[in-house]
Amino acid sequence: MSYDRDNIFARILRGEIPCNKVYEDDFALAFHDIHPRAPVHVLVIPKGDYESMADFTAGAPDDLVAGYIRAIGTVARQLGVEESGYRLLANTGANAHQEVPHLHVHIFAGRPLGAMLPPGK
Ligand code: 5GP
Repeated sequence: MSYDRDNIFARILRGEIPCNKVYEDDFALAFHDIHPRAPVHVLVIPKGDYESMADFTAGAPDDLVAGYIRAIGTVARQLGVEESGYRLLANTGANAHQEVPHLHVHIFAGRPLGAMLPPGK
């Protein structure tokens, strides 16, 4: 599937839509989710046209892959959530209810987050 250059996060990366920025470097941008589901809810996105982690790790240059993963850790440290704990989540595709087709990792923190998923298979 081809990357949709008009998705909302692509537009945020291009500066066409504002965001509440938490962190930025050459490889990644992090900003607060517009509809937070926890006291801390931040999205970290890579600077590149990638829809999923599979797509990203197959196609992105090594410095971007390393830089993006490092940025996720940097943001977690910067948010001060390491000691209390946090959850990383990357919804991918229809079954995971991915709404925005640009790779993003959610960082949730600030309260007990409960089980990973509701019970059941
Ligand atoms: P997904 O279901 O794709 O993993 O999550 C997409 C997330 O992006 C949702 O949590 C949603 O609230 C957030 N989101 C959607 N549009 C915007 C926006 O324009 N700005 C920000 N900051 N977050 C957005």
